[in-house]
Formats: sequence, C-alpha cells, structure tokens
Amino acid sequence: MPTSLKIAVLPGDGIGPEGMEAAMQVLQAALASDGYELEAEQALVGGAAIDECGEALPPATLTTCENASAILFGSVGGPKWETLPPARQPERAALLPLRRHFRLFANLRPGLLYPELVPASPLRPELIPDGIDLVCVRELTGGIYFGEPKARHSLPDGDEEALDTMIYKRSEIERIAEVAARAALERQGRVCSVDKANVLTTSVLWRETVSAFFDRYYPQIELSHLYVDNAAMQMARNPNQFDVVLTENMFGDILSDEMGIVCGSLGMLCSASLGLGRNAEGQPFGLYEPAGGSAPDIAGQGIGNPCAQILSGAMMLRFSFGLGNIADRIEKAVREAVREGYRTADIAFGKEPVNTAAMAEAVLERIPRV
Ligand code: NAD
Repeated sequence: MPTSLKIAVLPGDGIGPEGMEAAMQVLQAALASDGYELEAEQALVGGAAIDECGEALPPATLTTCENASAILFGSVGGPKWETLPPARQPERAALLPLRRHFRLFANLRPGLLYPELVPASPLRPELIPDGIDLVCVRELTGGIYFGEPKARHSLPDGDEEALDTMIYKRSEIERIAEVAARAALERQGRVCSVDKANVLTTSVLWRETVSAFFDRYYPQIELSHLYVDNAAMQMARNPNQFDVVLTENMFGDILSDEMGIVCGSLGMLCSASLGLGRNAEGQPFGLYEPAGGSAPDIAGQGIGNPCAQILSGAMMLRFSFGLGNIADRIEKAVREAVREGYRTADIAFGKEPVNTAAMAEAVLERIPRV
C-alpha cells in the first residue's frame, strides 16, 4: 500500500490551473517511484471561486485546506475581478485570510538563478557569472499589514487622514529569527537582518531581539544588519553578498519582489509560507505557491513556465512532509531540463521555446526512477 500524502490543491486563476496540472504530474511521478501517492483534493479559490460561489475563499475551500497537511496554491486574480471593491478582490479576500487563518508567519522565497539563465536577469552578466543563490525569509502575519488600528477619517478643517499601525512583539521576531537561522544552517551560515532601526521603534526592537537571539542560540551564524534602503541598493548591486535575508512583513514584500526581478523570470521562483501548526505528519503546515501571479497576458495559451509551481511542490515535500530526498530529485530534474536547453518563452533567450506541457514532460523524464 503506498503512503498517502493529503494535500489541498487550489489552482486559482489565469496560468494557475495550467501550471498546477503540470506540477501535479511531476509530483505524482516523483512520489510514486518512492512508494508514495498524493491524495489531492482540489478546491476553488480567487476569481474562479467568486464566479462560482460569490466569494474568493468559500467555506468549502477552507474546510478542504483544514483537512489537508499542506496547500499547493496556484495564483489568483486578473482583470475580470479588478473592478470589485478591494476587500472582495481575489488576492485580498483569499490569500490574506488564508495566511491569517493558518497563522502562516514565515515566508521563505529562494532567489535562485541558474548560471544558464543569467541572461534572464536585468543585472550585468559579469556581476553574476555563476547565477544567484540566496533566500529571503519574511515575517508574514505581523507588522503594518495586520496592525490595528487602521483608520481613515475627515478632519474638522476639511482635510482627510488615514493611518496604519506597525507593531511587532518580541516573540514574533524571535520565531521568524529561528526560521532564518535554520535556513542559514542548511546553507552558508550567514544571516543579514534588514530593518529601519534609525527611524522606526519597531525596528529598534527588531534589531535588539534578533541580535540577542542569535547571540544566545546561534552564535555560529554570522549575523549582520542593514537598513532597508541600503538593502534594496545592495540587492540590485550584488545579490550574492547575501545568504539568508531576514526581514519584517512590508520590507520583505518589497525586497523579495526586487529579488524576484534580479533573479530573472518569475516563472522559475517558488515560495513557502509556513504556519505555527503541525500537520498529521508532525511537520509544519504550509502553503506553497509560485512567486508570480496569474499572468493574464499569457493565460490560456499553455505557454507559461510550470517550473515555479513544480519547485513549490518540491518545497512542500521538503517542509510539510519531511521528504527532502524527493524534493532534491525534483529540483535536480528541473535544473537538468533547463541546462539541456528546454525553455519556456520567458527564459528562452534565442532558444526555441517549448510550451508548458513539454517543459513539464522534460522535467518528468529527468526524475530518476528508484
Ligand atoms: P504576474 O506575476 O502575474 O505577471 C508579471 C509578468 O511575469 C507577466 O509578464 C507574466 O506573463 C510573467 N510571468 C509570471 N509568472 C510566469 C510564469 N509562470 N511563466 C511565464 N511568465 C510568467 O503579475 P501581474 O501582472 O502584476 O499580476 C497579474 C494578476 O495576478 C493580478 O490580478 C495580481 O493581483 C495577481 N497576483 C496574484 C498573486 C498570487 O496569487 N499570489 C501574486 C501576484 C499577483
């Protein structure tokens, strides 16, 4: 009897379903050769769910996610739903509630650019001859995006004001510092913590807490600090000076997107959002998704790059199921397919592009059968 891995599959909108179909084929094949199978329950999310049920995250979808050990997410949104009130729009009404509901406090985004894909980066090739390899660890459920109060009101003089609250507790900072430390131990052992401690009180607490935490629990890790404005410049100047970047919610939102662009196509970049809860396997519950969105400009054509979704699936096997060996095999297969010249249009650069299905097939063929 194969061992079953229970996951919720939320393809979403645009290229989401196309990438998901490809990723599921690869995951199923990689798992089958080791005696595992995916027990995948598919559910509606985003614009597709709005069209069908009137809301971006229907209760049935939430139940499917609650019954699973991990969520494999595609992408949500598109022009069709952009005229809805902001609170009902797919990203805001589906992704943020999922993060809050499952307390997905840690977002890990690898910034990996293979040497073969250096032309995909806007950086000069001589700056990154061997590609790019870093990880951004972003706090995901605190800071200014979730802080209360949030308000907007008219003033007696006819003017108008709005406010958001940036707030962090020491315990929130410590738990994300732990995630960054563990990531660094698997890599080069360096963490750069990014804040704005010259201006923001939350950043003063952030810097003090991170320093004390690493001093006490991870003295072997090389810790440095940068102000966020400088970090943004350094990311564009020499991304390989970073190993693990640790930062709070809003700075991480911006820096990880900058990292995405210096690393070439969004079609190659995956992410994991890990929760406080443990799943049936005793591993962290998590949501795994490509770094890019629903790519409405190419949706429906079958030409999107499935690698980001496939690699998100590999992260899911590693973090939520403890199957790092199978994740390694999938990541190696993606790398080999690209090295041997299989490229979707976003990473083709003069090579004849293949479509989504052919790219997935090329990856599939390179997964060793055990
Ligand atoms: P996008 O990431 O969808 O697209 C930006 C560019 O990258 C486009 O040219 C697109 O074709 C390309 N791209 C992205 N993923 C690709 C892939 N796998 N293969 C090949 N090319 C790829 O960003 P956008 O255009 O700003 O947003 C489109 C929609 O997606 C919006 O509705 C936005 O709200 C939504 N969005 C959703 C998520 C999410 O679901 N997590 C994230 C970002 C944006």
